[in-house]
Amino acid sequence: MTKHYDALIIGGGHNGLTCAFYLARAGMRVRVLERRHVVGGAAVTEEFHPGFRNSTASYTVSLLRPKVIADMKLHDHGYRVVERTISNFFPLENDYLKLGGGRTEAEFARFSAKDAAAYPAYDAALEKVAGVLRDLSLQAPPNVGGGLAAIVAAAKQGWPMAKMDLATQRDLLAIFTKSARDFLDGWFEHDVVKTAFAFDAVVGNYAGVSTPGSAYVLLHHVFGEVNGKLGTWGHSVGGMGAITQAMARACEAQGVEISLETPVDKLLVSGGKTRGVRLESGEEIVAPIVAANVGPALLYRQMVDEADLDADFRSRMKTYKTGSGTFRMNVALSELPDFTVLPGKEQAEHHTAGIVIAPGMDYMDRAFIDAQQHGWSKKPIVEIMIPSTVDSSLAPQGAMSPACSASSSTPRSTGTRTARKWRT
Ligand SMILES: Cc1cc2nc3c(=O)[nH]c(=O)nc-3n(C[C@H](O)[C@H](O)[C@H](O)COP(=O)(O)OP(=O)(O)OC[C@H]3O[C@@H](n4cnc5c(N)ncnc54)[C@H](O)[C@@H]3O)c2cc1C
Repeated sequence: MTKHYDALIIGGGHNGLTCAFYLARAGMRVRVLERRHVVGGAAVTEEFHPGFRNSTASYTVSLLRPKVIADMKLHDHGYRVVERTISNFFPLENDYLKLGGGRTEAEFARFSAKDAAAYPAYDAALEKVAGVLRDLSLQAPPNVGGGLAAIVAAAKQGWPMAKMDLATQRDLLAIFTKSARDFLDGWFEHDVVKTAFAFDAVVGNYAGVSTPGSAYVLLHHVFGEVNGKLGTWGHSVGGMGAITQAMARACEAQGVEISLETPVDKLLVSGGKTRGVRLESGEEIVAPIVAANVGPALLYRQMVDEADLDADFRSRMKTYKTGSGTFRMNVALSELPDFTVLPGKEQAEHHTAGIVIAPGMDYMDRAFIDAQQHGWSKKPIVEIMIPSTVDSSLAPQGAMSPACSASSSTPRSTGTRTARKWRT
């Protein structure tokens, strides 16, 4: 007998699962169709080497809204986040910088007393802007082409910004338009201090610190929270997959049907409206609502027939650029890295931090320019996390499972060349 659904979700990433949960909670019959053998998308925990597990793509959490955690009752389904002792560790040529753990100002003071004094005001300014955007993130964005209703919705959503004091409005404008370098130049004088923040603007972002608009990404790093602490990033116990597994359980408790190894081939469209999907197996599933948890390029270039898109949109999608500026590698280690500037293989707080190899603003700009010109950066920005230092469930006793991410590379790059050159 054919089952009837009110909504189908293509993809079981964390956004697809969250969407499925809320639709089911609203009384709909919902089915999630996931291509892989596991839900989670980029938020998964996988065994990448015998005995070594890791969050194999996305690795640190902050942006998951407390409302979603509460609505999905994720704590009841095993969600737990631990915080790093310090947030970031920057090994430098003959020194180092540690951020977080309540001593950021003291660390900055080693490089510039003026910058240490400026830090609280910088932090407060960013937090003010982030606070407004945090509230906006729980509202449906106005629908482009949605007529008068959309204009009214946009005006309503813009109202909290109009109410901000003038200094905050200026900060908002600056942060949405300037490069990270220009924005930070307005606040700080020392290159090491600026670098500590500018890294946040380019991590996972195919941009340099001088790229206009890159300042906006600084906000992403203060926007979130974990365990009630604003601007903090943490680690999900059991890896990011523990979050999406908890979400899957929350969905199932709400009656959502989750189908694994069920890749969608095409959207079925008639009369300009979606009427369901065709799976790669050839099976057709009908539903009046289809929500896509896949990116626009995959959706509109592969899953929807060209003839079902209007000419203007079709031509825009043809030139829509998408790709990754990051190369990610998971490695199993028998011991912790030993840093020349902070020696020792016994676990210390800097081993639990995001270990960032990005010595200077010019270094980061060069990494980007290099990636643009050659596909790979000769000297990439490298971030290393050793999650097993904060979560013992991930690696065998005494062993470590670090993950390195390197920005910048370009989508046309291939596998292993730079990886062999990396040294910690
Ligand atoms: C290397 C890397 C590191 C990152 N690190 C972080 C981080 O530390 N913290 C952070 O907050 N964010 C991080 N991000 C970003 C974050 O992971 C993504 O923004 C997030 O996972 C997107 O979630 P999503 O649910 O929208 O999509 P996805 O996670 O991409 O999920 C899409 C799902 O659709 C499925 N799918 C694809 N095609 C089909 C098909 N034809 N049929 C059915 N299913 C299909 C996929 O298998 C997948 O499960 C990182 C991203 C990457 C790539």
